[in-house]
Amino acid sequence: MATGVKAIRGMNDILPDQSYRWEYFEQTVHKWLAAYGYRNIRTPIVEQTDLFIRSIGEVTDIVEKEMYTFIDHLNNDSLTLRPEGTASCVRAVIEHNLLYAGPQRLYYAGPMFRHERPQKGRYRQFHQVGVEALGYVGPDIDAELIVMCSRLWDLLGISGLRLEIGTLGNAESRALHRTRLIKYFEQHRDNLDEDSLRRLHTNPLRILDSKNPRMQGLIDNAPKLIDDLDEESCIHFESLQHILREQGINFEINLRLVRGLDYYNRSVFEWITDKLGAQGTVCAGGRYDGLMEQVGGKSAPACGFAMGIERLLALMQECGENITPPAPDIYIAHQGEEGADYAWKCAEFLRDEGLNIILHCGGGSFKSQMKKADAIGASYALIIGDDEVKAQEVTLKPLRESIEQASMKLSAVTELIKK
Ligand code: ATP
Ligand code: MG
Repeated sequence: MATGVKAIRGMNDILPDQSYRWEYFEQTVHKWLAAYGYRNIRTPIVEQTDLFIRSIGEVTDIVEKEMYTFIDHLNNDSLTLRPEGTASCVRAVIEHNLLYAGPQRLYYAGPMFRHERPQKGRYRQFHQVGVEALGYVGPDIDAELIVMCSRLWDLLGISGLRLEIGTLGNAESRALHRTRLIKYFEQHRDNLDEDSLRRLHTNPLRILDSKNPRMQGLIDNAPKLIDDLDEESCIHFESLQHILREQGINFEINLRLVRGLDYYNRSVFEWITDKLGAQGTVCAGGRYDGLMEQVGGKSAPACGFAMGIERLLALMQECGENITPPAPDIYIAHQGEEGADYAWKCAEFLRDEGLNIILHCGGGSFKSQMKKADAIGASYALIIGDDEVKAQEVTLKPLRESIEQASMKLSAVTELIKK
């Protein structure tokens, strides 16, 4: 036998025994977003590579080693499968001048691609819902984003998430901090690991994010951003905290919160769980006031977040979710040519009435058809044989309750079931 073609490592099929949970998640999320007035934006999955280099930053893990970049050999363009959604969203907003009509509350959902080492909670094709508020200076909108997350966790039955917030200040205070960091790490050059040495002059802030235990002492004593913060950012951060307190949202301040993407400034936040092992961040975001300009648009304030759907679904399970898998109301079993004709009519009639019907296909005995009806979880079987055709009636058999089957006119079925 020829060896079959397999899916690509780190890219998962989502099969029917799981996809209903995704659908539940998506439906919940749609209602939740509507409640806050966010509107959907859909951008292509492939973009010019340059977009991501300019937005995410040249010296980030994503751009340095995680992007699926390839040459379109038909015209030699360098293209990239989107590793995240903010850059594409901002590109589209600029290209279609959406901010001309005023600030925008937007969201997107779909697959993202990063060439990482696949493991639990980390895939090469994964899925995000991203929410972006463009044209608002905040901090009210920053708070709204966080408050709405908190509501979503409740809607999904998720508990025990920890919220960490931080601030990165404005461009000037970041530049000042950067200079001080470089100076500090230069003085301790001998203690830097290879990654940190490489980042020393390109992205010293990322050194703070190092997971190398040997580096932790050095990192703990490094200059703190809080000492370099500009006053306006401090006020912004204070007001954000005020709204969160008013809304009863618990948070921890983490001034070492470094996001893996370079475009953030001021507020940053992460929602973290202890229930999923190492991949504990389920949602992360912040403000990115410089990005619009960086990507070639008019300067405009903005902030947003993205959540990982795989991790949230795993967390829902940990929190004892019980979403019932979908099952048809009725499985129609039938025999004989006239029985089949009548069964087709019944099926379409009952669907008109709003019921979910599976019409048996492929023949076979009543016994085997009833087995299928049971296995698929139908609430009722509708039996159509010679007797039923003759009487122009149907026999309805409850499969989940110990009630006797009964023959009736088709028109009586819906009422009985809905009762
Ligand atoms: P991490 O620190 O886990 O690598 P990140 O900072 O790279 O996350 P973001 O780019 O902020 O993640 O993306 C937001 C969310 O998307 C993450 O919090 C996570 O839930 C999810 N996510 C990111 N990368 C992956 C991945 N490779 N597989 C599954 N989910 C992911
Ligand atoms: Mg990452």
